[in-house]
Amino acid sequence: MFDVEKIREDFPILSREISGRPLIYLDNGATSQTPKCVVDHIADTYYRVNANVHRGVHTLSQEATDAHEAARRRVQQFIGAGSSSEVIFTRGTTEAINLVASSFGDEFLHDGDEIILTVMEHHANIVPWQLLQRRRNIKLRVVPIDERGDLNVDTYKSLFNGHTRLVGVAHVSNVLGTINPVREMIAYAHAQGVPVLVDGAQAVPHLRVNVQELDADFYVFSAHKVYGPTGIGVLYGKEKWLDAMPPYQGGGEMIAHVDFSGTTFGELPFKFEAGTPDYVGTSAFATALDYVDHIGLESIAAHENELLRYTTDRLQDIEGMRIFGTSEHKSSVISFLVDGIHHYDMGMLLDKLGVAVRTGHHCAQPLMTSLGIEGTVRASFAAYNTKAEAEAFVAAVKRVVQMFR
Ligand code: PMP
Repeated sequence: MFDVEKIREDFPILSREISGRPLIYLDNGATSQTPKCVVDHIADTYYRVNANVHRGVHTLSQEATDAHEAARRRVQQFIGAGSSSEVIFTRGTTEAINLVASSFGDEFLHDGDEIILTVMEHHANIVPWQLLQRRRNIKLRVVPIDERGDLNVDTYKSLFNGHTRLVGVAHVSNVLGTINPVREMIAYAHAQGVPVLVDGAQAVPHLRVNVQELDADFYVFSAHKVYGPTGIGVLYGKEKWLDAMPPYQGGGEMIAHVDFSGTTFGELPFKFEAGTPDYVGTSAFATALDYVDHIGLESIAAHENELLRYTTDRLQDIEGMRIFGTSEHKSSVISFLVDGIHHYDMGMLLDKLGVAVRTGHHCAQPLMTSLGIEGTVRASFAAYNTKAEAEAFVAAVKRVVQMFR
């Protein structure tokens, strides 16, 4: 049984007050709060186990290594990867995409080649490719959306040609909430011989993802959006690609043998993990995934979808309300504007009422441009949000609107 009040007890931060009112945290798309078990895990590792991983002969180092590598297997299992060596730990989604853009880009992209992206990509899945453009004369082609915020799949298919080398697509839009048909998009790309990178930062907290079922070539996400610690991310890559890609960074941990006449690199996944990893974070992330599975991702999603439907319906009663992203396939994000009220004003006044939302372009400026706006207010739900919070949020938005009318 999904018991939201019990879940809330796991998150001490939720009992904070902001401006004398109970905090209503609706900025989960930016980062989710961290349950006590995860924070305790971090403290416990520092208090009892802390030692650098790999190569250590002493007990603490072996325990730390075991926990770090067990976390890799936990992630493998959580996303349905075929092998734990296909799970590379990074600092986040952003670093994971930079790794692919740099390494895959250097190896497989040449002047005249093309990459297909979508207009709803986060800057993390745009700028790394633009940096690559400084080194390679490649073209970025962009899939547009329709008025509901769904990708135009016919246009997507029409963008492929003999120069297409990669597709990069968000599984779920951080602004519109649209759940993109990535499985179909991947199947189509593969039929053209083109690999696909999926940005799963907004999907993994809300949908059961199986990278093998999707047949994704690369799948990336961040722990801090899935109740895990900040500073940990995952790059899943098919072994055939990772094997063929050069290292991203050089240093300790990623080598087989170093000599001034030349260096040989380590096996996967270590080839892509230069330097001391955040082994405290990785093992705490495994605890976060255990926490999610204990509640049940499907139950979490059902709860969030109920909040999404309820809040969307209520917000629509407000005069001048514009909601961006009304796809039938939508995750628990609501981006909106109210006529005549700047998104920053709305966000700041909501904060005074205890409600934390995000305002601005949400690192998706090309999407804002295509919508003809500068930014939105964004509310996003997690497992611990309640219907009472959704009601209070809608009431707070109405109150702000009244102040302006
Ligand atoms: N992609 C998407 C869709 C996101 O929502 C985010 C986080 N806002 C990122 C990438 C970047 O994630 P991080 O900052 O954790 O690297």
